[in-house]
Amino acid sequence: MDERIISSRLKNEEDQYETALRPEKLEDFIGQDNLKEKLSIYIRAARERGEPLDHVLLHGPPGLGKTTLANIIAREMGVNIRITSGPAIERPGDLAALLTNLAPKDILFIDEIHRLHRTVEEILYPAMEDFALDIIIGKGPGARSLRLDLAHFTLIGATTRAGLLSSPLRDRFGIIERLDFYSVQSLSKILERSAALLGVTIDRAGTEKIALASRGTPRIANRLLKRVRDYAQVRANNLVTSKVADEALQIMEIDALGLDKTDYLLLSTIIEKFDGGPVGLETIAASLNEEAGTIEEIYEPYLMKVGFLKRTPRGRVVTDKLYSHLNIHRDKYKQQSL
Ligand code: ADP
Repeated sequence: MDERIISSRLKNEEDQYETALRPEKLEDFIGQDNLKEKLSIYIRAARERGEPLDHVLLHGPPGLGKTTLANIIAREMGVNIRITSGPAIERPGDLAALLTNLAPKDILFIDEIHRLHRTVEEILYPAMEDFALDIIIGKGPGARSLRLDLAHFTLIGATTRAGLLSSPLRDRFGIIERLDFYSVQSLSKILERSAALLGVTIDRAGTEKIALASRGTPRIANRLLKRVRDYAQVRANNLVTSKVADEALQIMEIDALGLDKTDYLLLSTIIEKFDGGPVGLETIAASLNEEAGTIEEIYEPYLMKVGFLKRTPRGRVVTDKLYSHLNIHRDKYKQQSL
């Protein structure tokens, strides 16, 4: 699943260029205008009062800019940021060590915060609310609890699955914001910026082709740009036009909307095995031999965004829009598969 070129998850070897392409200032962060406007107000207000920013929870599909925004917030606040992730904090002591090392107004960024261990999460409650750490010393009847004061810090949590966050944790965030898929216009701007940074010559039509196939996701846009650049270098004199982008996407087996074989496998499974739905997520997962969480988090959001799939109370259903995209009328298709 993660070998997919259009996986929105970060691949390890990408770290380096992601940092190079990552905008550092709020004004260079393209799209998400409403969110940017709100954040700039909150940041300015906190700065003017000389206070730390309230705790921030950013949620939305992978690759949309949550980590980037956390870094930008730190920069705009003029403070340090410590970056970690839910699964990386194994024991309460690990989190306690991170928290006690923070200076006033510093930012602690926890990616995949929904994956924190329960025991670790409980340390966060008093830390976020009272800037205090409760430590138990000793064991059994002689055990005592000790309260340590922490610096007034800001926690920025990022999650792809806001629904999995426990409500005591969610309630402790003063700012909760969702990142949405990007428009083709915003993705085109992101691609123009990245092309300039990477030294890729690309025309407007070429940019738009890649933007359309980027599944609303900047990380995928940048990744496709790099692969199209390779193709242009070897086959097209280093110039990315619409035709060159098209050819490169074809080689990668990605269609104009950014869907690949795995997407079509999912959709055709629903059509062929379950008569177009409704069918439960777990059933789909079992027949694709894939985890339900992965389908829900990675495949489905974009398929719903393009209008090919719907979630209903009775399960997943493919839409008429998909049938017309596949050039098949629903009834005709059903007859054929009988
Ligand atoms: P997330 O944390 O949500 O998975 P990231 O913040 O790591 O996503 O973003 C992935 C990459 O996409 C970044 O390296 C950055 O280059 C690019 N990116 C994300 N959002 C934007 C944006 N609004 N403008 C420009 N580039 C962006």
